[in-house]
Amino acid sequence: VGADTKAGNPDAIQVAVRVRPILVREAETKGASESWRAIPHAAQVVRVGRLPTGAGGATTCPAAFCFDHVFGKESTNEEVYRQVARPLVESALQGYNGTVFAYGQTSSGKTHTMWGTERDPGVTRRAVRDLFDMARVMSQREFLVRVSYLEIYNETIRDLLHPQPATTNVRVLEDSDGRIFTDAREEIIINPEQVYELLLNGETKRMTGATDMNERSSRSHTILVLVIESRERAPEDDHSQDGHSGDHTDSDAAVRTATLTLVDLAGSERQKDAKSEGLRLKEGGYINKSLLTLGTVINKLSEGNGAHIPYRDSKLTRMLQNSLGGNSRTAVICAITPAAAHAEETLSTLKFATRAK
Ligand code: ADP
Ligand code: MG
Repeated sequence: VGADTKAGNPDAIQVAVRVRPILVREAETKGASESWRAIPHAAQVVRVGRLPTGAGGATTCPAAFCFDHVFGKESTNEEVYRQVARPLVESALQGYNGTVFAYGQTSSGKTHTMWGTERDPGVTRRAVRDLFDMARVMSQREFLVRVSYLEIYNETIRDLLHPQPATTNVRVLEDSDGRIFTDAREEIIINPEQVYELLLNGETKRMTGATDMNERSSRSHTILVLVIESRERAPEDDHSQDGHSGDHTDSDAAVRTATLTLVDLAGSERQKDAKSEGLRLKEGGYINKSLLTLGTVINKLSEGNGAHIPYRDSKLTRMLQNSLGGNSRTAVICAITPAAAHAEETLSTLKFATRAK
C-alpha cells in the first residue's frame, strides 16, 4: 500500500479552514480589526484590506485562498463535524483508517473545535457519540472499541491513560507485517461517556510545565486513538456465546480493524520571542519540526506521485503512518483568528493549509 493508492481517492485529504470570531478581550485592544474573512459558500478565505507592514507583505499574500470547506465566525461545531469529520467516522466503521487534525496558532480555536462546549460539543465528542450510534445500527456486525490517549511533548510520547504519564515513554513499534503500533495502554470502551471520562482524567494528568496549563497545551500534541474492531455476527449468535472453540474460523476471517485518530496539535506559532531560550527554545524547535514534517507528509501524500514520504522524521507522523496515506482518509481543520494583530501567523496557517491540499 503505497502513496499511489491515493490517486484513486481524490477525497483522501480534505482541508478545512475555520475563522473564529473576534473575542471580547481582543475587541478591547487596538489589534482587533479584521484582516481575514470567511466566504463559506465560495469555500474561500479572503484578505480584508491591507495586511499590516511586516505581515508578509501584500506582494507575497494572495487576496483569497480556496479550500474544501471554509467555516465562518457563525459556524457551529456541529456543522464542522458534519461536513468534515463525520465521513471519516462512517468510513472507519467500514474498516478504513481516518485522522482528523486541528492545526493553528495558540488561541485560534483548535480546542474549541475538537472539544467544544456543553451547548455545542466539538468534533471529538460528536465522533465518539456517532461511532456508537452508527455501530448500534449495523446490527449484522459486532464491534469492539478500544482507546488510547497520548501526548507528544518534545518528541516524547506520554501515555495519558497511565496513572503517572510523566513516568512513561511510549514506544512506536512495528510488527512483522509492517504495521505500526504503540505500547500505550488501551481501554475497552462500551459507551461514549466512558471516553469523555478518560479524556477529562487524562487532561488533569497532563504535565503542566512550569505552572500554566495553557502554556503546556500549546506546546504539545494531544492524540486520541480509537481502534474499531468488528466482525460479522455469527448466524446463531446465542450458541456462539458458550464456545470459544475453533469452529468460528470463518467469522474470525471477517474481522475488520480500523483506527480513527483525533489530534489537537501544538500551537503552530513561531518561537520568535527574544526571551525564548533553553528549554523553551528547544520545545519550539521540536514543535516546529513535527508540524513541518506533518506538512511535508500531507503535501507529499496529496501530490500522490509515489515520492518518498518522510514519516520517520517525527514521532507524530511515525505513529500515524498507517492512518495517513494508503486507503486512509485525512481531514485537516485549520483554525485561524481574523484579528489583524495575528495577520502574519494566520497567513502562515493559510499557507500550511494550501500546501496540504
Ligand atoms: P486553541 O486551542 O487553538 O489554543 P481555543 O480553542 O482555546 O484555542 O480558543 C481560544 C479562545 O477562543 C477560547 O476562549 C474559545 O472559547 C474561543 N473560541 C475559539 N473558537 C471559537 C468559535 N468558533 N466561536 C466562539 N469562540 C471561540
Ligand atoms: Mg488548545
